[in-house]
Amino acid sequence: MTWLEYEMYKWQEERYPNMQLNEYQDKARTYAIYPEEYRITYPALGLVGEAGEIANKVKKIMRGDVKPEAMEQKKLEVASEIGDVLWYCAALAQDIGISLSVIATQNLDKLENRKQRDAIHGDGDNR
Ligand SMILES: [Mg+2]
Repeated sequence: MTWLEYEMYKWQEERYPNMQLNEYQDKARTYAIYPEEYRITYPALGLVGEAGEIANKVKKIMRGDVKPEAMEQKKLEVASEIGDVLWYCAALAQDIGISLSVIATQNLDKLENRKQRDAIHGDGDNR
């Protein structure tokens, strides 16, 4: 564990001691089967592809393709795609050497900070 990983882990344990995403990440890693030279690139591209699958399903709902009685099934399909996105997030986080829990909790802190400063809306990564 590098110093940065340790500091991030320590921060997360203090702020969100019961976050279980690392357990998911550890299990998800066992399905990460792609060539070493495609580390980072493979999960980054897969993440975009799966996000596109979500967008396509939601687009079809917006277009009126899904009858009301089929909506629950469609939600399950969207949920499955969210799971695919989560897997690629876990793989990408693994490839850059940062735990999914740290990423998730730092994101929560970032959002809380923006909320406190009334800067949720707008754009730019460093609001
Ligand atoms: Mg998919």
